[in-house]
Amino acid sequence: MLQGVGKSYGAFTAVGSVDLSIHKGEMFALVGASGCGKTTLLRMLAGFVTPTSGRITIDDQDMNDVPPYERPVNMMFQSYALFPHMTVEDNIGYGLKRERLDGATRTRRITEALEMVQLGDLGRRKPHQLSGGQRQRVALARALIRRPKVLLLDEPLSALDKKLRESTQFELMDLQHEVGITFIVVTHDQDEAMALASRIAVMDKGAVVQVGTPAEVYEYPKTRFVADFFGTANLIEGIVTGQSQGMLVVQSKELGGDLLVDDVGRHHPGQQVWVAVRPEKIRLSKTPETGARRNLLKGVVWELGYLGNRSVYQVKTSSGKILSAFAQNERRTLDWSIDWSDEVYLGWDAEASVLLES
Ligand code: ATP
Repeated sequence: MLQGVGKSYGAFTAVGSVDLSIHKGEMFALVGASGCGKTTLLRMLAGFVTPTSGRITIDDQDMNDVPPYERPVNMMFQSYALFPHMTVEDNIGYGLKRERLDGATRTRRITEALEMVQLGDLGRRKPHQLSGGQRQRVALARALIRRPKVLLLDEPLSALDKKLRESTQFELMDLQHEVGITFIVVTHDQDEAMALASRIAVMDKGAVVQVGTPAEVYEYPKTRFVADFFGTANLIEGIVTGQSQGMLVVQSKELGGDLLVDDVGRHHPGQQVWVAVRPEKIRLSKTPETGARRNLLKGVVWELGYLGNRSVYQVKTSSGKILSAFAQNERRTLDWSIDWSDEVYLGWDAEASVLLES
């Protein structure tokens, strides 16, 4: 649990006042662009960086005066930081150094840790005799051997190539499930965070701007920053003019028309707002689709990209604003049903428009 945790370096605030409640046994991800403060936050949890303000507690125990090695926390570094001259067993056993165990217990714990990460028969090898994925598992075993309550992982998959990264992602999730320890993962890769985490905290300029499940942050982003950070979003500026059939009407100058948004909540006429629409929620057609709770615009195909499984369209609307739309390539064809320069209609449900806070 973090309450008002912040870190400043002189006049510069690396992390503002962060409040976060991370559940026991969850896989939690901290994401954000480079320099947003995620590593600083992780280091404060580990005890390597002292907060300028706030309180960190783990299992109701105040951590502020607890040195790093006495915290029920362990950290796995981006570089894995394995000792090159030591065997895998010795690297893993190094994590037990402070525990003053007898030889037999130590050996048993090392064997258990090796089996946990499925490296049972590689204990006598040196790090340079392992693949990238195996080195990562050694680093994990070393971090888990002390049985911490919380494991902190700084960009755990960034040293692996793309294919290996995907399979390792699943291994990491299985392992986390098996050991039941809280994992807090720092990553700048939004896809990785979505695939791995049960919940995500999105950071921007030292502040946590949204916390939620992957589906919540994707489908219900609160701000333009979050909408843009996860996937692609069409962002449209407008002014609330009123309500119609339980929907909000937003007048948009840049679209030259009204938008229907399925959100009547906290908004009042005259308020300036931003609306986000995901490209995959927009349907393209040559004839206008009709429906009461739908948005409909006319435009011309400006750009078209074929990506195999889907095509990406950039459509220039009559007002000049360009909107992105994705079309799933359901049928096998070499002919475009909608091609460059075609006149098209863009349609999406009022439910697909998300009203943003800023
Ligand atoms: P990245 O993904 O690039 O690692 P990050 O989100 O982890 O970025 P941090 O490493 O937490 O970012 O850094 C946040 C900000 O704090 C950065 O602007 C960084 O330059 C600054 N910062 C970090 N450590 C120090 C320090 N010891 N002294 C001064 N400024 C620092």
